[in-house]
Amino acid sequence: MIAKHLIAATVAGVASISAMANSTDPNNPSGTVVDRFADIEVLRYTVPGFNELSLDQKKFIYYLTEAALAGRDILWDQNGRYNLPLRGVLEAVYTTYDGDRRDPQFLAFEKYLKQVEFGNGAYHHYSTDKFVPGFTQEWFEAQARKAANKEASAFDAANPVWAQLMQLMFDPTFMPKRVNQAEGADLILTSANNFYEGVTQKEVEDYYNALKNPDDPTPPSYGLNTKVTKLDGKVVEIPYKIGGLYSAAIERIVANLEKALPYAETSQQEASIKELIRYYTTGDLRAFDAYSILWTEDTTPVVDFVNGFIESYGDPLGMTGSWESIVNFKNQKASHRTEVISNAAQWFEDHSPVNPRFRKPQVKGVSAKVINAAILAGDAYPSTPIGINLPNANWIRAAHGSKSVTIENITQAYDDASHGNGFNEEFVIDAPTRELMDKYLFITDNLHTDLHECLGHGSGRLLPGVDPDALKAHGSTLEETRADLFALYYLADPYLLELGLLDNPDSYKAEYYKYMLNGLMTQLMRIEPGKDVEEAHMRNRKLIAEWALEHGRDRNVVELVKRDGKTFVKINDYEALRGLFGQLLAEIQRIKSEGDYAAGAALVEKYAVKVDPTLHREVLHRYATLDIAPYKGFVNPVYTPVTDASGNITDIRVDYTEGYLPQMFRYSRDYSPLTR
Ligand code: ZN
Repeated sequence: MIAKHLIAATVAGVASISAMANSTDPNNPSGTVVDRFADIEVLRYTVPGFNELSLDQKKFIYYLTEAALAGRDILWDQNGRYNLPLRGVLEAVYTTYDGDRRDPQFLAFEKYLKQVEFGNGAYHHYSTDKFVPGFTQEWFEAQARKAANKEASAFDAANPVWAQLMQLMFDPTFMPKRVNQAEGADLILTSANNFYEGVTQKEVEDYYNALKNPDDPTPPSYGLNTKVTKLDGKVVEIPYKIGGLYSAAIERIVANLEKALPYAETSQQEASIKELIRYYTTGDLRAFDAYSILWTEDTTPVVDFVNGFIESYGDPLGMTGSWESIVNFKNQKASHRTEVISNAAQWFEDHSPVNPRFRKPQVKGVSAKVINAAILAGDAYPSTPIGINLPNANWIRAAHGSKSVTIENITQAYDDASHGNGFNEEFVIDAPTRELMDKYLFITDNLHTDLHECLGHGSGRLLPGVDPDALKAHGSTLEETRADLFALYYLADPYLLELGLLDNPDSYKAEYYKYMLNGLMTQLMRIEPGKDVEEAHMRNRKLIAEWALEHGRDRNVVELVKRDGKTFVKINDYEALRGLFGQLLAEIQRIKSEGDYAAGAALVEKYAVKVDPTLHREVLHRYATLDIAPYKGFVNPVYTPVTDASGNITDIRVDYTEGYLPQMFRYSRDYSPLTR
């Protein structure tokens, strides 16, 4: 699964408080705001390290990005059967419009167009609700008639789907939601997505139940690449493949995969691409599984990619995959960081502040891979995940493992963008703390994640005979607490300077401040008034922060202070705070090692769940005044081959200047095999 939930954490949370003010540096546009409309902010990301790749790696990436862009129309059509004609007429009206561009009708139309481009169709990418136009049908029909006179591709009232387009845009009861999950409704008939047509939920379920064999240890992902409909009264699947549905787009994907093939970095990567081509050519789900296994087990290449029908959140029954592609390459610098930590795993374990009985005599660190995205496409564009964890098939994960990566240039762009959005100024207590965070939060936040993932979860051991599930419903909260405390404790260790991972003994304070602020206050902005904290990571952060606040009270280690009626976190003694983190780590490790459910439950219930309603109201109010867009997305860089006199590619140039609508219009013009 692509870890979409992680995005929300970064966008809304303090995790996004920034590092360098790159967004103001014209030479590094990472995090630049390219466009802002409705509830959306469109940012730019950069691709550090691309220019240092070999020519073959650049060519490999180039053809894979072409394969990624070639699939764009597939997702649009999957998201709703009138989306492609809708896009055609909206773009034609926009480009041929010769009236006043400050006319309120036109401005409302422009906003609607930008929303539709962002949603890859008429529906919000997150809520899946239909967009509501702020202009009138009369105005729009008049513009469309004018556009039709100027551009043959524009639609007019004589078009066969015109009536449906007008209903889609102006009738709120017509196909109102892309994915309906409401209990009791026929989820297929009431969802506007285009994975099904003319069939009921019951017919679809009966169809798949008849296909499934419960004794198959390696079941294919039924329905992943098909549209289900009826033919002569019988339920049938129409496969997405060459010669099937979306053939023209898939042919172009395959043609570019074939061009990429000679540049594969390992023979296994070459074999996996061949299986992917076979899958696109035949529609055979067993070929997709073969591809997935080869892909999962091949961990050596620098350049890697996802291209296919992957996530099924868009299907209320969770069967059919939305088309997406992400092309990426290993971020050597960041991956070096995780290797250094991983290689020193035993040192960290031996010096951990827990009872030696609970330490692992022999510990092996995991070295997480950090990547930079080169292109985002399909369901991963413009809204994108910050991590990838694939494949999705459970039996493949069990037998062959999975790949889990974080996309550092995307998190960097979020981080850069959040700088200057007013968040720090509103919530961080004073200028010196803000400066420290500006300088060191990006690196310490990343190191915190590395320590948490590479060492924290793998540290410690259970005493013999202890049930690993002894902590039951509180297991995941306490496990995240343990991993976070391990990371927090070591973030302040001078050993990190010795390893060359940090260059200032005070840098850890940036993460400490952010962590306490988030755990005590700012993460509450994601909780509705009157509700408890439920999500495991949020509970864990609250547990740690509230526990440290209370247990440091006698020495005034951390306090909540009021200034001009506003609450601020004030840390008076960072070293003592580190001591408290170590002390709590020892206790949480004891609870885990001994399977002490009662003690674990008591900690969670006392510190992690209940919200102070007054403070909560204050946080929500202060956050609302900041006017930070709740959703963010990205424009892609533009890759252009540089050729010599005889047409050979000598370099791939990367450019970061394209705007949001220009990029959308260029994609519609150059990568739209399904609309002509
Ligand atoms: Zn974790």
